[in-house]
Amino acid sequence: MGNSITISNGKLNVPNDPIIPFIEGDGIGIDIWTPAQKVFDAAVEKVYGGQKKVEWLEVLAGEKAYHESGEWLPQQTLDAIHDHLVAIKGPLTTPIGGGIRSLNVQLRQTLDLYVCLRPVRWFKGVPSPLVHPEYTDMVIFRENTEDIYAGIEFQAETDDCKKLVNILQDDFGARNIRFPETTSIGIKPVSKEGTERLVKAAIEYAIEHRKPSVTIVHKGNIMKFTEGSFKQWGYDLAEREYADKVFTWGMYDSILSTDGIDAANQAQEDAEAAGKILVKDCIADAFLQEILLYPKQHSVVATLNLNGDYVSDALAACVGGIGIAPGANINYATGFAIFEATHGTAPKLAGKNMVNPSSIILSGAMMFEYMGWVEVAKLIEDAVEKAIASKRVTFDFHRLMDGAELLSTSEFGDEIIANM
Ligand code: NAP
Repeated sequence: MGNSITISNGKLNVPNDPIIPFIEGDGIGIDIWTPAQKVFDAAVEKVYGGQKKVEWLEVLAGEKAYHESGEWLPQQTLDAIHDHLVAIKGPLTTPIGGGIRSLNVQLRQTLDLYVCLRPVRWFKGVPSPLVHPEYTDMVIFRENTEDIYAGIEFQAETDDCKKLVNILQDDFGARNIRFPETTSIGIKPVSKEGTERLVKAAIEYAIEHRKPSVTIVHKGNIMKFTEGSFKQWGYDLAEREYADKVFTWGMYDSILSTDGIDAANQAQEDAEAAGKILVKDCIADAFLQEILLYPKQHSVVATLNLNGDYVSDALAACVGGIGIAPGANINYATGFAIFEATHGTAPKLAGKNMVNPSSIILSGAMMFEYMGWVEVAKLIEDAVEKAIASKRVTFDFHRLMDGAELLSTSEFGDEIIANM
């Protein structure tokens, strides 16, 4: 039996035989997990020649858990992740009814996984709608616990909602609830602590990975006390705690405006000349234009929950990566981290050994990097890139590539190993 990963003074202690709980996942989870585990074991063996080895521990969630125990997310599973800190999971069906919104949300909330981390880069050969997909190289830090996604909502015409509408109108003078009788209400909590821990994680990542900039993406021009505060608290934290490492540029106007691009380039040059990281901000709607028009302007991105949801999928699509985009949910203070395939369970394709396993495999690479096994991470990423570039791919890429050879999920996994 292996040993648990632990954390002390904010640093992970990873034994040579770490126990890593995995959730196979529903639907296509059964297709992707087995080849993924084979790739992980092969990469670890290749790098460490038997000196290090992962002890995989299956834990149940989703349909498999429900069929075996009558529970969608058994306490045993939460306990195992709690004990071993780092876990990896396939996609999970969202149960209908039963008081559970989503198992993913429940996992994030229970373990307070406040960062949703999504690296977005192009792998050579991946079909993309962009002329220069190679210009897109960003890492998104999406706040995972607050914002309009906190789930504090009141359905129109219920007693609670009417009560709330009355309070807002009578006690707070809200005059712009246009149709009070039929209005639903959602609450958008955004805190200083929540913002600071997210922006801190983004800046620390930029420092460690020598990234040129951190962009705070927000809609603070309209939502001044929530998203506007997010921006300001982010800048304040950068200036207060990282004054010697960052150069803040609060004058950032959209680079879509006249002369904007020159000013942006100048600020980046000034920061680099001073050996610092540029911290800037961008309004969310302009950002969605800039990722298409000026992708080189953005590197690490720190944003709120809802913006982050949109931005992650838009960026993944830019590099053709909806089926291969990796992700993780992390609490850098406690060390808890769950790495995951970002696509869903694709029930129509389940059990056919045909889907692309790259999302979970690249999430695994992120996991090894987080554990400090960076050579393993690099080996896996390079091998995925080589496999795709050789045009021996699963159906999703095959249908978009000229002259490609069609492989099954398991064959593609073996192709990755052959390219190590
Ligand atoms: P989905 O499962 O991601 O599938 C949508 C489409 O994406 C599939 O029909 C397929 O497209 C393509 N696709 C997804 N993964 C692929 C892969 N690995 N290889 C190749 N193609 C892939 O999204 P959905 O249909 O909206 O959701 C289905 C279920 O998954 C729902 O219960 C949802 O709640 C759940 N879900 C879970 C997670 C999670 O656990 N993280 C995330 C999202 C959704 P084509 O049909 O065009 O081939």
